[in-house]
Amino acid sequence: MDKLKLEIVTPRGAVFSGEVEEVHASGSEGDFGVLPGHAPLMTMLRVGALVARADGKPNYFFVGSGFAEVSWKGMIILADSAERAEDIDVARAMAAKQRAEERLAKIENLDFVRAQSALERAVARIRVAEEHAHR
Ligand code: ATP
Repeated sequence: MDKLKLEIVTPRGAVFSGEVEEVHASGSEGDFGVLPGHAPLMTMLRVGALVARADGKPNYFFVGSGFAEVSWKGMIILADSAERAEDIDVARAMAAKQRAEERLAKIENLDFVRAQSALERAVARIRVAEEHAHR
């Protein structure tokens, strides 16, 4: 078995569906790699990068919070949001970063956790887009 079926699904639809050789993702317990034939597992995901190697080439994705399931049938990522690195709108992520930073700077801010996770998503999107651009 030299291929693994990978599906990245969000509430807005499938972002990726295909056969890959290897996946690297950010699990809640740390980064992890999955090769074809990996034992079944289920883990929560951290906001961050996912790299899937297909036909020898790495494909970079931003993945928001969600979870990953590996079974004998393949790997399914269910995430709040996900984008291919090349589809990331860096200007939009920069604006989201600035908005979140401004909200976090206000002492009377009552929605700290929401602003913090928005900041986390924006920073991760910028990083994924930059890593992809400098590859
Ligand atoms: P924003 O404040 O810019 O909407 P957000 O982090 O709140 O950012 P999400 O809730 O994670 O956005 O995603 C909402 C939808 O917009 C998803 O479909 C996601 O893929 C898309 N999206 C969000 N930010 C970007 C971006 N910078 N580039 C491309 N797509 C994005």
